[in-house]
Amino acid sequence: MTASDQGVERIRIPNRVAHSPVALPDVMLAAPLLSRLLLGASGPGLAIQAAALGAYAGSAAKDWIRRLGVRKIDFLAVFGADVGHLPAMPLAARRSEIAVYARRVNELYRPIEMPRDELAARVNEALTRYIAGITGQRVETSDAIRSFMLAQFFFPFALGGCDFISGDVAIFRDTGVFEPHVIAHEFSHRKGYFKELEAQALAYLSLEASDDPLLVQSAFCERLHRQLRVVARKEAGSGAAGEDHYHDLVDRADLRPELRWAFHALVPRLSSAERAMTTVMRRLYDERMRLTGQNGITDYDEGFTRFLYGFENGGA
Ligand SMILES: [Zn+2]
Repeated sequence: MTASDQGVERIRIPNRVAHSPVALPDVMLAAPLLSRLLLGASGPGLAIQAAALGAYAGSAAKDWIRRLGVRKIDFLAVFGADVGHLPAMPLAARRSEIAVYARRVNELYRPIEMPRDELAARVNEALTRYIAGITGQRVETSDAIRSFMLAQFFFPFALGGCDFISGDVAIFRDTGVFEPHVIAHEFSHRKGYFKELEAQALAYLSLEASDDPLLVQSAFCERLHRQLRVVARKEAGSGAAGEDHYHDLVDRADLRPELRWAFHALVPRLSSAERAMTTVMRRLYDERMRLTGQNGITDYDEGFTRFLYGFENGGA
């Protein structure tokens, strides 16, 4: 322990499995799902089973984190908002936030050219430091990232994944300016924050506080992207109409061309068969989230933006 570390406790989570060639617990989750899909099991039964398995995996990992003595952030006490306490955010406030953050990311813009492992190390340090600033404890975890995990086959709309038992993290596709946020989100899970809203919030707040322009840019891009998704859904409904409207809103946001391209690429235009598959898997994933004490898939965008709105306006 050096002088500057006085008063900060260190806990090292080994993430040993993160270096194995295959994400094994992921196979455990995926195999029964795959066989049931192929054999045509009924949707609701399948969803419940997958959700139960996810809940089991989550609780096993939670016990393990607790045994290690990790002090978790109490979101409601620290930020004035959490999964169960989210203030409503008026549509007008959402629209003005879009204008503000579109301007900010245009000003901040810089392409991400550093290798992923170097970026992962920077992101991990920003996140570790941010959490330690609140809890007084550095929860040190691996920087290792995979480029493939079976979950990406089942959840094609996901950008990354973290296996809750092993701490395995994978990034599924290149998202450019969004990548630091995707990594920070998955690394938050690795440090013991299993809920999606908590991972979204910690990723955003740690990058925003980092003073590293690449990381701050990524936080602001994520916030803008989520706000655009919510407004698109509220104005045009969910499903295909909402997704088309998202692209309209991106075009109207006056983003510089490199950013406009990145925002469009996040929501790929799907064929009707792909859309049908995605709808089923989203519903399943939504169900799994609800069974683990979360509000559902909207925690990624609506919950996340309401959390920030609550935090920045003095609590829910
Ligand atoms: Zn997540």
